[in-house]
Amino acid sequence: MSEEWTRTTCPYCGVGCGVLARPRGDGGAEIKGDPEHPANFGRLCAKGSALGETLSRDGRLLRPMVDGAETDWDAALDRVARRFAETIAAHGPDSVAFYGSGQLLIEDYYVANKLMKGFIGTANIDTNSRLCMASSVAGHRRAFGSDTVPGSYRDLEEADLVVLAGSNLAWCHPVLFQRLLAARETRGTTIVAIDPRATATTAAADLHLAIAPGADVALFSGLLAHLAETGGVDLRFIAAHTVGFEPALAEARAFDLAAAARTTELAPEALTAFYDLFARTERVVTVYSQGVNQSSAGTDKVNAILNCHLATGRIGRPGMGPFSVTGQPNAMGGREVGGLANMLAAHMDIDNPEHRGIVQAFWGSPTIAAKPGLKAVDLFRAVEDGRVKALWIMATNPVDSMPEANRVREAIRNCPFVVVSDVCATDTTALADVLLPSAAWGEKDGTVTNSERRMSRQRAFLAPPGEALPDWRQVAEVAARLGFGDAFAHRSPAGILGEYARLTATRNGGRRDLDLGALAGISDAEYDALTPFQWPRRAGEAPAETRFFANGGFYHADRKARFVSTPFRVPAARTSVGFPFILNTGRIRDQWHTMTRTAKTPRLTGHIGEPFVEIHPADAEALGVKPADLAEIESAHGRAILRVVVTERQRPGSLFAPMHWTDQFASQGRIDAVTSSAVDPVSGQPELKITAVSAKRF
Ligand code: SF4
Repeated sequence: MSEEWTRTTCPYCGVGCGVLARPRGDGGAEIKGDPEHPANFGRLCAKGSALGETLSRDGRLLRPMVDGAETDWDAALDRVARRFAETIAAHGPDSVAFYGSGQLLIEDYYVANKLMKGFIGTANIDTNSRLCMASSVAGHRRAFGSDTVPGSYRDLEEADLVVLAGSNLAWCHPVLFQRLLAARETRGTTIVAIDPRATATTAAADLHLAIAPGADVALFSGLLAHLAETGGVDLRFIAAHTVGFEPALAEARAFDLAAAARTTELAPEALTAFYDLFARTERVVTVYSQGVNQSSAGTDKVNAILNCHLATGRIGRPGMGPFSVTGQPNAMGGREVGGLANMLAAHMDIDNPEHRGIVQAFWGSPTIAAKPGLKAVDLFRAVEDGRVKALWIMATNPVDSMPEANRVREAIRNCPFVVVSDVCATDTTALADVLLPSAAWGEKDGTVTNSERRMSRQRAFLAPPGEALPDWRQVAEVAARLGFGDAFAHRSPAGILGEYARLTATRNGGRRDLDLGALAGISDAEYDALTPFQWPRRAGEAPAETRFFANGGFYHADRKARFVSTPFRVPAARTSVGFPFILNTGRIRDQWHTMTRTAKTPRLTGHIGEPFVEIHPADAEALGVKPADLAEIESAHGRAILRVVVTERQRPGSLFAPMHWTDQFASQGRIDAVTSSAVDPVSGQPELKITAVSAKRF
């Protein structure tokens, strides 16, 4: 490879593709897929391919600002530290909060969590990952005793049946989908897609189960009951490696074929076809994503899937296992370093006194948060009602991306002190008292972990514009001003990763899933040379492809997995005369989050140029709306105006709208003004897939 090319990792989805980048000299860059990266072997999707066209400085934040006026870094950081210190002194540590993002690198996440949990002493630090995969994390922890994804992407290529549940893999994880389709060419893999709407993914599937919104627990409970009924369970694996099969099965038996068909609104013949296929195929991978996670029963949905894989012993072996695919580039890295309000670094539990002691001793910190902090929706409720009086938002745009976004916008607007660190101006940066310019992808160094536990380097190949700084540096500077300089004297991201790796090895006396001991104290040169690898990477061990749980070895104290009983619950949202439709939201192929990067090139905006709502033809006729009309979609929380697409891809009574547009890009196209913030009681993940709405011609 020419030395001019830099090896880095795509900053978009959780597939985590390797990218080769070379500056063009005009601020942009040439981009191509890295043929040596094990996630993509040179492939890139439309978003990844267009990365070089989205690096312009339009809209970039260049200098720190305080109260709307440019200032220098010292003045801005002094203000942040002083206001945080004053707030903590007057109201206690839980009066401050931090809201981060799956866009942050492992090193950013680690330092922010260390400051908040170990030195300020509050766990009020959560992240937009709460909107993405918190239900998977909670489901893994309940079943396995750890947040461990058992398999690898390669399993999708080595399976004979791939079940895609609540996942439009073709648009949301395109390169992984390409790998699956390429494998099908030679292997003849059968693909089953479970999704209430027809998508590019369901079009490629051998069987599409257009399930009723929110009915996944019924579907997979019915599968578990069917497996038990037909001798399709692995009694040896169940006896040797699990606990709780009988109660979970008794609960699942509520869904015999007739009940499952009634609740899922699927034909019994279609259900039987799926159940028989699953029962007779040894190599099965079940991939699940936001359609499962973004639900008020998200954790139960995850466990209903895991129950079926545990019952068949199809886990951690080639071509077998449940597989959570997540949305953001640092798919797993944030949760590994304790990025969620209910976790500590290295997969330790904040409500476990022994774990708190280990982390506090390791950090040598004056305190440690004694209880879980506020999860995203609750965190902004606490901002709204004044419990949180100082808030630091980093690398995310909650004014547009949180459910009930209008309410979140007002909460932030009324918060006494708001700091925002970001790359570009957004609707959230407009509300900042202190605005800190961050280095962007291509300008900073760090690591990310993708959906198959593979850690890869993001590397800088461009100079940051203006005075932009990496996020971890901003946190460390504020920590020093709060009097914690010794613990935050990190010289480089390598030093941060090396410290975190030492902590993972400290933890792993009895449990060795997330052990990065081989990277403890990694030097800058070794960090520069780091090649992609899957964790664990224990001291003295070479990188290797890893799978978990084929022979048990789960991370509950007795080393056994737990079956979880999953009684069916209907979605939180109920349709009514006033709100007769169910609104589903999601990604489109060529846009990313709130479009701050992907709207910069016509190559991507040319795919779909404006926000839209998909409506079934029968509903469109009843509403008197035609294709290309504008429709007003309204819920109890807010409204949006969207272009009408009339299509049989929708079920009657259901609507779909993309999540991306903000008022910045389309007046009143901001769909999260409409969505509900009902959450899963275990994971705290909001039900972004199901909101009761009305629709009318605008
Ligand atoms: Fe980037 Fe995901 Fe596309 Fe890969 S599949 S190039 S990680 S957006």
